Amino acid sequence: MAPNARLDHRNPLVFDTHELGRRPGALQRLSRTIDAPKDFGVQGVVGVPEGAPVELELRLESVMEGVLVTGTARAQAEGECVRCLEPLQLDVEAEFQEMFSYPDADDRGRPKAEPTDDAEEDEDRLFIEDGLFDLEPVLRDAVVLALPMQPVCQDDCPGLCSECGARLADDPDHHHDAVDIRWAALQGLAGSLGDGEKDEMSGADAEAGVDEKQEK
Ligand SMILES: [Zn+2]
Ligand SMILES: [Zn+2]
Repeated sequence: MAPNARLDHRNPLVFDTHELGRRPGALQRLSRTIDAPKDFGVQGVVGVPEGAPVELELRLESVMEGVLVTGTARAQAEGECVRCLEPLQLDVEAEFQEMFSYPDADDRGRPKAEPTDDAEEDEDRLFIEDGLFDLEPVLRDAVVLALPMQPVCQDDCPGLCSECGARLADDPDHHHDAVDIRWAALQGLAGSLGDGEKDEMSGADAEAGVDEKQEK
């Protein structure tokens, strides 16, 4: 893997391993709150808004071939309920663990693998560059995995009325006199069709129904 851009130590998602050192077994714990980068979530569904705080707890462990990074990220995501389309907020907690390898540890002590395997593996491998590593891709994957693909405002969200689009959670007794709507449509149809036998009967029933209602 060729680094396409040098890591910038001023980037809050770039971490420095110099203090940890390369002695295997060395441990370092870090806490850092960062601003969420762009597109931090599932586009158009749910995600952590750009600039929102993301609390990071990291444990860096020096091992022979690199630094093993274990961590937790906490943030608040925003999205839309898939059933009723209300905006919603939810707490996300994502855990991750990733190995960042020293570039020069690449050939050392590793059995020569088949060239194809090597190429595949290398694509996924992450490296330490000049003692720095970039947590962003790891964090992004972990947060996306921790987010619900079908977020709902409440587990039993009843969604929207199929007739008028009203949010049913706001109005549990919401209903339409569906019979009346259908009869009205049939009546209209009956009128346009003229003397159809079935339509005539339906029309009569509908009128009876309407009268009954008006009397109450
Ligand atoms: Zn909902
Ligand atoms: Zn409705």
